[in-house]
Amino acid sequence: MNKVRVRFAPSPTGLLHIGGARTALFNWLYARHMGGTFVLRVEDTDQSRNTQEAVDVIFRGMRWLGLDWDEGPDGNGGVKGDKGPYFQSQRGSIYTKYLDKLQATGKTYEDGGALKFKMPKTPGVVKDLVCGDVTFDRTMEPDLVIRRKDGSPVFHFVNVVDDLEMGITHVIRGEDHLSNTHKHIALYEALGVTPPQFAHIPLILNQGGSKMSKRDDGAALGFYEEAGYLPAAVRNYLCLLGWSPGANEEILSIEEIVRRFDLKDLNRSNARFDGAKLFWINGEYWRAMKNDEFAKFAEASLAKSRPAVAALPADFRNGLLGVIREKIRTGKELAEWLDPYLTEDYPYSEEARKKQFSNPEAGKWLTALEKGFSSSAEPLSEIEAEAVCKKVAEEAGLPKPAKVIHLLRSAVSGHTVGPSLFHLLVVLGKSKVVARLMRTRILWEEGKLGGSA
Ligand code: GLU
Repeated sequence: MNKVRVRFAPSPTGLLHIGGARTALFNWLYARHMGGTFVLRVEDTDQSRNTQEAVDVIFRGMRWLGLDWDEGPDGNGGVKGDKGPYFQSQRGSIYTKYLDKLQATGKTYEDGGALKFKMPKTPGVVKDLVCGDVTFDRTMEPDLVIRRKDGSPVFHFVNVVDDLEMGITHVIRGEDHLSNTHKHIALYEALGVTPPQFAHIPLILNQGGSKMSKRDDGAALGFYEEAGYLPAAVRNYLCLLGWSPGANEEILSIEEIVRRFDLKDLNRSNARFDGAKLFWINGEYWRAMKNDEFAKFAEASLAKSRPAVAALPADFRNGLLGVIREKIRTGKELAEWLDPYLTEDYPYSEEARKKQFSNPEAGKWLTALEKGFSSSAEPLSEIEAEAVCKKVAEEAGLPKPAKVIHLLRSAVSGHTVGPSLFHLLVVLGKSKVVARLMRTRILWEEGKLGGSA
């Protein structure tokens, strides 16, 4: 058997749709599983939509998912591997050559300046590796324009020519192209060549059950990068949209998926996109990340959005990242949860004002906490922090320290929820804790926290 050659052939539309990303992924998986070649071909013949940004979105998304290609363009317009770059806009002379070839067969004719291909009227049969044999009635099928009046060749024709020229053995693409495929097969046959094998993968549906479109929430791959998801988790989830490893397995390393992936295990039924499940898988990857992996992820993910983090003393930074990591699941949350510790001038949330600082006792408790932490040992320990809270609660005549602890959290962070509190206090260190308590107490006394002096 010929060595497997597959391709991802996106049209630059301005976003890499989840469905497109999954098509790229399945081609990549199959190439890697079979030890074959994965080609990237940018189908950029529609000049009106064709911009560098739109092409960059595709490169960026593929890189983010770790889908390296063996042949095709690189993001800087250079050449990856020894062949390519494959931009259809640069392959005009190849298409002209094939138009001439097809014309020489007598199966074309000119009509109003356009060139048309005489579609056979016999039934068109697509032997699909996923969908099985699908027959298209062609008695009413119009002839196919293959070259427009302005001289430009149409999608169906260049798509076929490229797959042929590039020696593609398997065309793996979305099911929305299944109904085009009999036309493509007719073109291969007219050119006297055997078509590649086809595998049309099921559509991705949104929660409402219709085809996921670019207007659906989370339909663009870039959404997950921006929200700080882990690319390996997103990739794992995309693998499950139309392929199943069997036995209810869901979390698998990419090496394991490459080892097991086969076209015969692709599902025939449509896959429903489930954002909650993706979020859950992301959480599993998040928890499993080793400390050094997490440190690398955090650095890259915060570099742009929170440059102040890089300037923090390493111990403080690592301590904060560690304690916050336990409670969150994405890079975006990480950035937001860090905010109260990047300035001493942090804001107090509505919720903290309402639930904590409206308590008429708050001023007294804050004073006692400030005193308690001022006389605590240095460095502060979790046990000691807890002891201070207990003592303050006792002296205030409270049966349990919970209320004091909640107030303390809002005082040092401005929020009613956050990282594990005693651990956080240790990370902040005695002097910051005392300074934050003092600031809060003064603001409270001035009536600026919605409390009363
Ligand atoms: N450029 C086509 C698309 O983005 C690719 C079709 C194919 O994979 O053959 O839908």
